[in-house]
Amino acid sequence: MPRETWRKAGQAGLLMASAPEAYGGSGGNILHDIIITDRLARAGAHELMISVVNMVFGPYVCSLATEAQKSAWIPKLASGEWLGAIAMSEPGAGSDLQAIRTTARRDGGDYVINGQKIFTTLGHFADILMVACKTPSDDGNRAISLFFVPVGEVSGVRKGRKLDKIGLSAAGTAEIFFEDVRVPADSLLGGEQGLGFRQMMTNLAEERMVVAIESMAMIERALAETIDYVKTRKAFGKAIIDFQNTAFVLAEMKTQANAARVFVDYCIGRLLDGTLDGATAAMAKLHLSELQGRIVDQCLQLFGGYGYINEYPIARMYRDARVSRIYGGTSEIMKLIISRTL
Ligand SMILES: Cc1cc2nc3c(=O)[nH]c(=O)nc-3n(C[C@H](O)[C@H](O)[C@H](O)COP(=O)(O)OP(=O)(O)OC[C@H]3O[C@@H](n4cnc5c(N)ncnc54)[C@H](O)[C@@H]3O)c2cc1C
Repeated sequence: MPRETWRKAGQAGLLMASAPEAYGGSGGNILHDIIITDRLARAGAHELMISVVNMVFGPYVCSLATEAQKSAWIPKLASGEWLGAIAMSEPGAGSDLQAIRTTARRDGGDYVINGQKIFTTLGHFADILMVACKTPSDDGNRAISLFFVPVGEVSGVRKGRKLDKIGLSAAGTAEIFFEDVRVPADSLLGGEQGLGFRQMMTNLAEERMVVAIESMAMIERALAETIDYVKTRKAFGKAIIDFQNTAFVLAEMKTQANAARVFVDYCIGRLLDGTLDGATAAMAKLHLSELQGRIVDQCLQLFGGYGYINEYPIARMYRDARVSRIYGGTSEIMKLIISRTL
């Protein structure tokens, strides 16, 4: 992914749209970020992962950072000069983030970070990382804290392999190693040690909605592309849509998609008025990502052999859809969250 693409996105106002204008954002609200996420996914440009900067990294900086952190990082993110990435998952800790082993030890006015992260979306390109670390203190407490790490301004950050994934190939998903990375104490998100887990939980509902919103957009795109295709493709002397099987499969999918759209819009409304709870956001992520998998698979089937050819967008949608059930918390973890409220 050329960096120029990000600068153009910044010029077009697609980055950090909900951040205040005083910091270089567009002064919008979360609905602007949602619309940008939806439109990019619908256009097949979700791989840029602009949604990660706007709706995953962005809220940490905009709502939980100190004034100094906001003024330092938001203008660079909004202009596309810098890319931000969230480094939480580790080889030994994905679903169970409490088990992370990367540490940040206080040393005078600094913290020294050691450890390893994996699956960092945009990690290969990132200029600034939000790194989840254990911060051991003298009383034996090993709480999690989040740190801003400006990659080019510190030594000891090493980007490992760009991971070879089955989809989302432009996303620069990478391993990242931290070897005695020294950052000043004011790199702590919000300026206070030990708040990391609570800070991560604060933004989880929005993060899960990002996946739900992208899944919904891709469901609608897959259906639109498939309906167009089956109207023109012919077999046995008639258009594919004229087979009752095709029409019925599409009618079922359209019904499921419309019902899902009502639920997504309901959740967006609650996100906007600040009342979206974690379990409902988990239901949205679970339902939409699972539905995306089923619908994209059935749509591909209606393309026949052409659906398996990369030239056709449905083939890419099929590859990209699979991860929706995994990242941002797996379907199993969503069920765990929902089941706690039963
Ligand atoms: C393309 C991609 C992009 C990603 N981007 C980022 C990113 O930007 N930043 C970041 O920090 N992380 C990122 N991740 C990591 C992602 O969030 C994790 O992969 C995910 O949370 C699952 O963790 P894991 O891979 O360690 O699987 P594990 O936690 O090892 O889970 C393995 C299996 O066990 C199941 N399981 C685990 N615990 C339970 C339980 N209690 N009950 C029932 N089943 C359970 C899981 O559901 C899964 O099926 C990304 C991952 C991918 C693939």
